[in-house]
Amino acid sequence: MLKTGQQAAADGRSIIDRVRAAGVVGAGGAGFPTHVKLAAKADLVIANGAECEPLLRVDQTIMQHQADRLVIGLEAAMQAVGASRGVIATKKHYHEAVAALEAATEGKEALSLYLMDSYYPAGDEKSLIHDVTGEVVRSAKLPADYGCVVCNVGTLVNIADALEGKAVTDKLVTVCGDVPQPATFQAPVGTAMRALIAATGFTGDERTHAVIEGGPLMGHVRDSWDNPITKTTGGLVVLPRNHYLITQITMTVERQVKIAMAVCCQCNMCTIMCPRNSLGLHVEPHKAMRAIANGDSKLLGNVNSILACCSCNLCTYYACNFGLTPGTVMTNIKNELARAGVRPETEQEIALDPSLETKRIPISRLIARMGLSAYNRPALYSPDALAPQAVTLPLRQHLGAPAQPVVRAGDRVDKGQLIARMAPDALGADIHASMSGTVDAVTDSAIRIKR
Ligand code: SF4
Ligand code: SF4
Repeated sequence: MLKTGQQAAADGRSIIDRVRAAGVVGAGGAGFPTHVKLAAKADLVIANGAECEPLLRVDQTIMQHQADRLVIGLEAAMQAVGASRGVIATKKHYHEAVAALEAATEGKEALSLYLMDSYYPAGDEKSLIHDVTGEVVRSAKLPADYGCVVCNVGTLVNIADALEGKAVTDKLVTVCGDVPQPATFQAPVGTAMRALIAATGFTGDERTHAVIEGGPLMGHVRDSWDNPITKTTGGLVVLPRNHYLITQITMTVERQVKIAMAVCCQCNMCTIMCPRNSLGLHVEPHKAMRAIANGDSKLLGNVNSILACCSCNLCTYYACNFGLTPGTVMTNIKNELARAGVRPETEQEIALDPSLETKRIPISRLIARMGLSAYNRPALYSPDALAPQAVTLPLRQHLGAPAQPVVRAGDRVDKGQLIARMAPDALGADIHASMSGTVDAVTDSAIRIKR
């Protein structure tokens, strides 16, 4: 039976309330609170299953093993935003995932698959929207301004759980790199990275190896392996400390500036290969390199050319032949501008590169260029959740203000129980106990629970 407009709006409201109560945030990115995203109005919801970071297998695992849950979440997201269409975007060569999605969407006329080639960064939100709709989202605009909302496939499964009153307590994480058996584990949020790494059979430690949280291109090296995984952790990439990638990521800003001054020949390749430049968004990393080499911010160019950078690091790891780090330089300047409250300019001419398709970088070439070919192995799927003795749940696992604790040391908590509430009148998300136990400590930044 067709719903009236009022009924549909009321149902959408109830979906958003449940998503908020479950603490759902973007599972594949910066952790944008999903209840805020679903408050938009849009005609199309795109499920992002592109998983463009090399070596990670989380989204593929979700699509292959939880396709029905994904579809429930997608349909709920469509209902919340008022969309008439849902598109699941993924790679053609994820054959098992594609087969599972085809079965899960069979007979659902509002849903379709969009199958992509394997290039980087296929999962970038603006690239994905352009691929699916032909629209380029301007720097000062949001996807909803173009009638669409994009959700990671893991987020959609969490939405399906939220409808049943289940909070976000577990996370799928691929642990890969120089480990005996790469695997995709289900683990309670707050599990120490060390426990996940050990579960692959790895017996070394920080003295010889470093761990990147996230993917090889956009992730961050974590100093302590006792740091916890969060709602947004998708991968742990373990590499020898002397691996080229670790050297690049951990290079100090002073050294980056020094080698930019000495080596950057302004060949422009970083700008030519930049996917956001190809989309017509005028991103020009060579200008940022010129500006830092000369210590002259006027050489940066238009503010949009910085703010539209998506930090994909293709310029650093593929375009630049001199081992420079234009992607890091752009990200640092972008973050500085954002902290200073600088917003994108509203007027922007789009100049889509007619060679956009031919400039796309196949993942296999990128993996080889980054010295990761030996680590590009299948990851075993381990659906039984790890059972750590303790978890540490950061109060900020999302964009916005940290959540505020509602428990005290010594309290008994059950898995799924609310332990920190989003700050009033601020962007944020609730946090729930990821295992049953006793609250061991509550600090300014985290809540620790032990069995
Ligand atoms: S950073 Fe590298 S690719 Fe970019 S202009 Fe300088 S030398 Fe060329
Ligand atoms: S990181 Fe580099 S390649 Fe990626 S969008 Fe930014 S400037 Fe372009």
